[in-house]
Amino acid sequence: MSGLLVRGGRVVDQSGAGGPVDVLVRDGHILEVGARLTGPTAGATVLDADGCVVAPGLVDLHTHLREPGNEDAETIETGTRAAALGGYTAVVAMPNTDPPLDEAAVVASVLARGATAPCEVVVAGAITKGRAGVELAPMGELHALGVRLFTDDGGCVESAAVMRHALEYARSLPGAVVAQHAEDPTLATGGHMHEGAWSSRLGIPGRPAAAEAVIVARDLMLAELTGTPLHLLHLSTASALDLVRAAKARGLAVTCEVAPHHFTLTDAACEGFDPVFKVHPPLRTAADVEAVRRALADGTVDAIATDHAPHAPEAKERPFEDAPPGMLGLETALALTLTELVEPGVLTIVEALALLSWRPARIAGLGDHGGPVAVGRPANLCVIDPARRWEVDPTRLASRARNTPYAGRKLTGRVRHTVRAGEAVVVDGSAQR
Ligand SMILES: [Zn+2]
Repeated sequence: MSGLLVRGGRVVDQSGAGGPVDVLVRDGHILEVGARLTGPTAGATVLDADGCVVAPGLVDLHTHLREPGNEDAETIETGTRAAALGGYTAVVAMPNTDPPLDEAAVVASVLARGATAPCEVVVAGAITKGRAGVELAPMGELHALGVRLFTDDGGCVESAAVMRHALEYARSLPGAVVAQHAEDPTLATGGHMHEGAWSSRLGIPGRPAAAEAVIVARDLMLAELTGTPLHLLHLSTASALDLVRAAKARGLAVTCEVAPHHFTLTDAACEGFDPVFKVHPPLRTAADVEAVRRALADGTVDAIATDHAPHAPEAKERPFEDAPPGMLGLETALALTLTELVEPGVLTIVEALALLSWRPARIAGLGDHGGPVAVGRPANLCVIDPARRWEVDPTRLASRARNTPYAGRKLTGRVRHTVRAGEAVVVDGSAQR
């Protein structure tokens, strides 16, 4: 007999947190869950989970894998290895590649390359051709290939009419969700950090908080008009989160995500003009960080998504205003959530994993991911050592890029093993391929 025996961990999934059990995995599925399994385990490879949490694998709604077109920054191979090390068993690849993921042939080639990766790669299709915001991409053809999330991310769909048409068209596609990068370009373009006291002091042109709220308010109206599910990417401001909270209270089909950098860093980080802190939407004020944490705690936010945005070192060595926006996230998101939200009591471990695993899995329509950890389910699991202390060292990340804003930061909690479709792709913190 072969298979895997995840031994002695505490299962945490949508039914809560339990006591120590063994989880036996065979042929890609969970065969048995129980205390001290013996009989059928002979020959199984043992993964020690003593003192660990055994959770459904994490699901990232927002990963930039950079392939095709920018393989100096990341590839499907390096990005999915980083994802597996971060506990992810599925990532949604964003379509702002070169060429963009706006037609069936490009989407099919990314899916084919991702098929053998250590973490499942699903693709978000572009809303408009060339992500130019004018003419709709062939959303039906992309949907037929399995695309469920549509977005022009990296850029905002500026035209309200185009956004309306996209939402109307998506209504006929089962499971489709239209996702917006909410920053009004007429307010944000030319800005490089949050517009406020710090941007004035540093003399860097800013992107106002209102650029986000204006689009969120508009798109909530359009979601209401069309009846199509809307997902708001990487929200960063108190005002946008207030709008979503109110929309949910009136029963609108809206979901939203936040990125770890928006609950752990403020615009003050830009003080040294280091482009590693440049990101769109930008790092905001301490009050916004507080608002993001509150919205996570009260259920307004549906998912923690990384917005993992690798850049080649030379790109991030340019002056602040010339450097591209974005920061790495896949290998630090879980630990930042545990250290900054669970340890101080903002979220319980169950709530944190809901935001990292089963709620995003539901938004992306990924029925094989997000648990529960139960007999018969696909074995997509992550085993977390919640007490493990470690320090972020950019040179030791699996990502091809090095642009993490957390260099030197001490975190608590780390992935020990990741199991993807029954295969141990990370064992004792080491990628197996
Ligand atoms: Zn974005």
